[in-house]
Parts: sequence; structure tokens; C-alpha cells
Amino acid sequence: MQKKDLLYEGKAKKLYKTEDENLLIAEFKDDLTAFNAEKKGSESGKGALNCLISTELFALLESNGIKTHLVETLDDNNQLVKKVDIINIEVVVRNVATGSLTKRLGIKDGTVLPFTLVEFYLKDDDLNDPIINDEHCIILNLVDDRSKLEVLRQKGRAINDILKEFFAKRRLNLVDFKVEFGIDKDGEILLSDEISPDSCRFWDMDTNEKMDKDRFRQNIGDGNVKVAYEEVLKRIKEVK
Ligand code: C5P
Repeated sequence: MQKKDLLYEGKAKKLYKTEDENLLIAEFKDDLTAFNAEKKGSESGKGALNCLISTELFALLESNGIKTHLVETLDDNNQLVKKVDIINIEVVVRNVATGSLTKRLGIKDGTVLPFTLVEFYLKDDDLNDPIINDEHCIILNLVDDRSKLEVLRQKGRAINDILKEFFAKRRLNLVDFKVEFGIDKDGEILLSDEISPDSCRFWDMDTNEKMDKDRFRQNIGDGNVKVAYEEVLKRIKEVK
């Protein structure tokens, strides 16, 4: 499958049309951004690592009954994916309080939450991705039916159950993550975008070391992420 016109360029990926109107090619970029692109960087090979990690995790989720947009990984940086209408809700799932949750509510960093917390954020850079509730989602027409919000919450929790157990076996604590969903031509809700250390927080269970984009955000190890992302990929591939 060949790349045709560029359809969209985001902060971490480019989306290209293909000869099939229902399929797109997603190219993972080496760019890193944080704080709504106030901080920018790039690390050669980062895109390929995220493409490979996301490929493994989407395959794991598919095999556990979560439908995704991934058709096939074409090479180190490119995935063939189903074209979807993205739902403009960032679904954030949290097991441990950190990041914006601690800032917003004053919960002590590292507090294990009494249950899995699912939050919705509006996917809108101009507005700084504000947190929203179900009523905001309806007022903003982000979904056509309230029941879809419950589906998103259920899918978020199901993904968390699968990934949390998978990473625990690899001595990584899945602290939180963000997922996006889209609706395909048949009206099916598919997990879309990516799941990678750019969009998840992983803390090493033995050393508490951060193995994700917080290294870039917080300038840990001079802000370089590749060594940590390589370690995440290595552990994903360990047979357990
Ligand atoms: O910043 P915050 O604590 O709300 O992030 C929660 C989780 O969602 C983190 O794993 C972060 O990497 C991810 N996230 C993301 N893209 C955003 C906002 C958050 O991948 N725009």
C-alpha cells in the first residue's frame, strides 16, 4: 500500500491517504512535545519505537477482544489503519495519582487510587485540552448518544485491566494512560491513535524510575527518552 496525499499532521504522527478510501497510513514521527507543544524536541528513532510498541499493544488488545483501527504494520514507522472519524475526547485512565490530577486536586503524587479513575478531556489544543464531564460531551456534540460515553468508559477500563496485568508481569507499573477512539464506516467504535510511552506513564516496579515521556517533560536523564522506550519495548517482547 502506497502513501498518497497527506491528510493530517499531528504532533507525533502524520496521516496519509492511500488508494483505498477506507484505509490510511499513520507515520510515527520522532518529534516530542509537552505542555501543549510549549516544549518541543526530537529524538531520532523515537517514532519507530512508539510504532513498534503500539503495534505490540494493539495486537495484545485485539487478541483480548478490543477492536482497534490497526490493519497491519508496514515498516518501523508506518502502520496501515482503518479510516475512522475520531471522537474528540481524550479518555484518560488512572491507577495512581500524578501529573495533572495531583495539580488539579492536590492529591499527593504517587497515591494509589482506590479504584480506576476514567476522565474525559476535550481534544482541543487551542483550549488546552480541558477536562469535561458527560454533559459537556453532549452539549459539544462529541458523541451522538450518551450511551457511547459509557462504552468509552468501559473500553478504557477493559484496556486498563489487560495492560496493567501485562506490564505488572514485566515489572512496570501502569500509572495512567490516554486513549482515543474513532468510529469506522460501519459505525463501530475502534481504539485508534497509539498506545506508547508518549501516551502512558510507566514506573519501574523495582526502582520507581520513570520509563515514559515524563523523562522529556521533566528533563530526567537530560530529557532523553530513547533508552527508556527501548527498555519498555524489550520488556514487552519478553515472553511471560
Ligand atoms: O497530564 P496528565 O496527568 O493529565 O496525563 C495523564 C496521562 O495521559 C499521561 O499518561 C499522559 O501521557 C497522557 N496524555 C496524553 N496526551 C495528552 C494528555 C495526557 O497522552 N494530551
